[in-house]
Amino acid sequence: MEIKPEKRKKFYAISVEDLIEEYRTSYDGISKTQVQRLQMKYGKNEIQAGHQKTYLEMFVDQFKDFMIIVLMVAALVAGFVAHEWADAVIILAVVILNALFGVFQESKAEGAIDALKKMSTPKARVKRDGVIHEIDSTELVPGDIVALEAGDVVPADLRLYETSTLKIEESSLTGESISVQKLATTINEDDVALGDQADMAFAGTNVTFGRGTGIVVNTGMNTEIGQIASMIEGAKENITPLQRNLSQLGKVLTYLILVISVVIFLIGLSKHEASVINLLIIAISIAVAAIPEGLPAIVTIILALGTQNLAKHHAIIRKLPAVETLGSTDVIGSDKTGTLTMNQMTVEKIYTNRELLNSDAPIDRQDMTLRVMNFANDAQIAADGKILGDPTETALIDFGLKNDFYIQDELKTTPRFNDLPFDSDRKMMTSMNRFGDNANLVMTKGAPDLVLKRCTKYLKNNELFDLTEADREEILAVNREMAEQALRVLGFAYKVVDQMPSPINSETIENELVFAGMVGMIDPERPEAKDAVAQAKHAGIRTVMITGDHQITAQAIAKRLGIVSDDAKDAVITGSELSQLSDEELADKIEQYSVYARVNPADKVRIVKSWQAKNKVVAMTGDGVNDAPALKAADIGIGMGITGTEVSKGASDLVLADDNFATIVQAVKEGRKVFANIQKAIQYLMSANLGEVITIFVLTLMGWDVLAPVQLLWINLVTDTFPAIALGVEPMEKGIMDQKPRGRNSTFFTGGVLPAIIYQGIVEAAITLGVYYWAIQFPVHSDPALIHGDAQTMAYVTLALIQLFHAFNVKSFQKSIFQANIFANKTFNWSILISLILLGVTVLIPGFNGLFHVTTLNLAQWGVVVAGAILMVVVVEVVKLFQRLF
Ligand code: ATP
Repeated sequence: MEIKPEKRKKFYAISVEDLIEEYRTSYDGISKTQVQRLQMKYGKNEIQAGHQKTYLEMFVDQFKDFMIIVLMVAALVAGFVAHEWADAVIILAVVILNALFGVFQESKAEGAIDALKKMSTPKARVKRDGVIHEIDSTELVPGDIVALEAGDVVPADLRLYETSTLKIEESSLTGESISVQKLATTINEDDVALGDQADMAFAGTNVTFGRGTGIVVNTGMNTEIGQIASMIEGAKENITPLQRNLSQLGKVLTYLILVISVVIFLIGLSKHEASVINLLIIAISIAVAAIPEGLPAIVTIILALGTQNLAKHHAIIRKLPAVETLGSTDVIGSDKTGTLTMNQMTVEKIYTNRELLNSDAPIDRQDMTLRVMNFANDAQIAADGKILGDPTETALIDFGLKNDFYIQDELKTTPRFNDLPFDSDRKMMTSMNRFGDNANLVMTKGAPDLVLKRCTKYLKNNELFDLTEADREEILAVNREMAEQALRVLGFAYKVVDQMPSPINSETIENELVFAGMVGMIDPERPEAKDAVAQAKHAGIRTVMITGDHQITAQAIAKRLGIVSDDAKDAVITGSELSQLSDEELADKIEQYSVYARVNPADKVRIVKSWQAKNKVVAMTGDGVNDAPALKAADIGIGMGITGTEVSKGASDLVLADDNFATIVQAVKEGRKVFANIQKAIQYLMSANLGEVITIFVLTLMGWDVLAPVQLLWINLVTDTFPAIALGVEPMEKGIMDQKPRGRNSTFFTGGVLPAIIYQGIVEAAITLGVYYWAIQFPVHSDPALIHGDAQTMAYVTLALIQLFHAFNVKSFQKSIFQANIFANKTFNWSILISLILLGVTVLIPGFNGLFHVTTLNLAQWGVVVAGAILMVVVVEVVKLFQRLF
């Protein structure tokens, strides 16, 4: 790979001023007019995983299959040696037609995968013309000014010029999993290792803490990560485990079928007078026809089409295997806030001066509880009066405004000079504001139980008192009272200090606080969540709630949603109880718990692993930067499209565009449908192949006329293909959510598919052979050659027709085809029609007759052929009837 000169520059040693000058930009960012030029010059900021195949390359690739090459050689030999030119040309034509289908399928699958990639393009915040925009990170160019904050994936290689407690985890580049501190000062040294370039942020690494700003120096393939070949991994991931199983099985079948072909060839030699070449072509044709080389491609298409359908339901698949795994989900571990609830908070209760009030009671503007909730708050009031930020915080600002407390005015006299941002491990945040000449006001808001632990005094009507054990209990009782009403409770505390400690961190600052008060906020459940929980339960899927919120709030909401029953006391476990259990103990008890409250993101990994130890397939949601390990550990990591950080989305297999729990259940349903449809396509194709192999085998054994190679190839490579793909887009069968999950170790053959393939293949062959036998028992000609010609034609048409009829059988595994709306799938109807026409052409149009070695059948013979095809439906219907009865 060519390394552009930009790459070799030691950006860490160049001052930002020089870079700004070099890129002809400013701290306000590049201008819109420059952007286009730079994009032309540098291209898109993306890692190209390998080279995109052209149609011609795809077409040529179709002929790389060994059996196809053998077949073509054999056809040419038949032409040159045996002068069967017609056969040779038709075989070549069929093979070319088949290759064209292959290209069509492959481009369709690739198109879907490309669309997927586009949907999951990460975003970047960039300053251009002095304004911050959120753009697709692929649009970035060197010279762009990019803002970073905790939870972001660094979108390009940046030279940082502004940092505030910025920490970045660079394990994807350096292997070091501990976040490194970043500082904006230029490093004036030579040969500094990547891990020590503190003034640089590299594409693909994760911002775990703080904020920063930098100028883009390298994009796309020129970035450090772009230089690492391991990024190609992305493309490999698109093979699903079951697809891999399938291609392994394909290999085994290939050998088996090759052996059968050889046996057919040898028996043929001893029983027929036919030419060696002809027998050879028959043997090769059966191999080409029966080896399921097309299956993996069909599975890919069905999976890819599934992703498009999922996208319509707001579920964006990031990794193809997820489509397959989704359908087997046993446990959904869901965050509470925003996924099961609306994340629309409103203050309902306020507890201040040790008194619990309704939110409509007037609160004095000087009230310390009111002050802390507004000061220790990162929400912003926009120019149009809209409050922007985290719903928990906007609710508090809103509550302040209702009580005539205007935080913007207050900040003028009491400006913030420092803060300790919220993180879900500590469950609190602190702002530090200065008032007067030298007084510092430290204000903390967070989970009441945890904030209270950091308090030594409390405030009541402007007087300070020592916090006794009894006071603590009383305050916690009020907390519990609010939590039981499903309210989310926040606590507030503060202290005034003359001298700030150094360093400033949680240990030095968030202690010896004065407890001011609490608020209780309502966060209503999502209206559709309750039904979705019930639907999941009906489908044998357990929903468990994982939340940083208080156990009592969590339990109250879980009850309302039907996740726990009213009397299920043991169903709740807290993070601290969890930490006291060993991994074995937790795995033992895990099935007992449905609510995990006050957990830290690290606990989520343990929860996932414990369920997996019980052999359950776990889907887990996450939004924060610390959720990434749990999202990766889960069988299906589910990211949040709206509130999720880029890091969490990057670690996910599936992203919910609407953050909604109900979407997960809908996605599981789609996943089950996709899996069922793949099974249908497999059942259809494999039973057909088996039917053909048995038919040819018995025909050879009996010394009868074997189907002509062109006939075999036509059935397999042409008429079969359309229904198989169309089965992949069958609508959802009713009752798909009445079944239990299929289990972790299931394959495409579980659930009775394998026995079905076998018996249906046998029945197909039996009927075809029966029709052949009828034709020689009740001939319409006296010439033996013509009798066998008719019999061969009838066997050919029967086999082809049976398969088209059988496609209807396969639409439902157990249900009668008369119970379902069998013409609901338009694609399927068209595919059957096209296949019928393609079959009809070979037997009904005089010119083609000769090419396909078929005779003209009379009405009675047609009657028998159609009856044979109908018989296939009757037999399968009877079997299904027994299946439903027992
Ligand atoms: P989830 O169900 O998604 O885990 P959660 O919002 O309850 O949601 P966290 O965001 O980790 O979980 O919050 C944990 C606790 O931290 C909350 O119960 C609350 O007490 C406190 N908390 C949440 N947001 C803030 C905030 N912005 N400032 C201070 N404390 C907060």
